[in-house]
Amino acid sequence: MDCIICGKQVVNENNRLQKKVKDYLKTTSELDVKHLWIKQWKICYDCSESYTNDNLVDNSEVLQKIENQKKRKKQLGKAKRKQGPLGETRAYYIERYIDYATCKAEQKGQHMVKPPPLINSRQYDAAYIAYVKSSESTAVLIVRDMVKDIDTKGKWIDVRHMEKRFLSHSDEDFSFIIVELFSRKQKPTYPKQMAEETNSDYKNRIAYITWQAATADIHDQRTQGIKGDVYIVLPCLKNEHESTYEKHYIVWDNSHRHFKRVRESNQYVNILKPPIWRYDIFATKQINHQQLRYIEKNLYQIIGKIHKKSAVTLSIFSPQKKKGLHQN
Ligand SMILES: [Zn+2]
Repeated sequence: MDCIICGKQVVNENNRLQKKVKDYLKTTSELDVKHLWIKQWKICYDCSESYTNDNLVDNSEVLQKIENQKKRKKQLGKAKRKQGPLGETRAYYIERYIDYATCKAEQKGQHMVKPPPLINSRQYDAAYIAYVKSSESTAVLIVRDMVKDIDTKGKWIDVRHMEKRFLSHSDEDFSFIIVELFSRKQKPTYPKQMAEETNSDYKNRIAYITWQAATADIHDQRTQGIKGDVYIVLPCLKNEHESTYEKHYIVWDNSHRHFKRVRESNQYVNILKPPIWRYDIFATKQINHQQLRYIEKNLYQIIGKIHKKSAVTLSIFSPQKKKGLHQN
């Protein structure tokens, strides 16, 4: 508590003040204003010595001093509210801001490979909607757009196997993808864009027609016993903004009791930048159907091996040569 007259801090340990009150009460049963203020820690010892009760109650100079102290206290309070909480409380609110902003930044991350969202999903059947949402469609786009060593022109891409990277937080983080390519025997007929259709609606409709044709064509060829070229792809999901931070300037918002981001402030926190995801292609290899059968037969053992290793290599997909045997 600060003295309402001089502003000096009134310290609790000041027994002399309380003794004054006790002594005063020995002479009368009721406290006057001065001794009431002393009891309430409102005035300091020095001021209690300087002023008599009459001085305090009627003296305009003292009243003015009290008024000034009140004003100063109010301004201090305002400045404090603007600055926000201090110490541990401040650390708590800043930590909450960092959590919130980091989560937001993660959501804002861009995927370089991802099919466009379906705007009007009523036009499509459930299987297609599920396909677009699934990581299978992402796997197809990786093979089509990112893998330079596989020529997918005039081919349908059928995902035979894809495995999410062990312990990865993202469903689009594959440790490997195995695809089979089929020649396009059915050529879909593409309609013209309708006047009322937006570009992205039209693109979606074309993609849907392509998917329908691909699904039917692959099914037909499989039924006929046709086998396509098979490839293993080892992609690696990378964040171009990995470990890069940006400054968030923040101010305390007292009405909502939190820190909020502003364009400029003298305070800031470092927040991870929104990620930009891309795929590096670590390895690509064409395999024959005998090798594919080996992989399918030993799929669980292969995946188990992958879980134990930090990096996936192509050798994991082949039978291990026994040591001591010379094979050529
Ligand atoms: Zn004082």
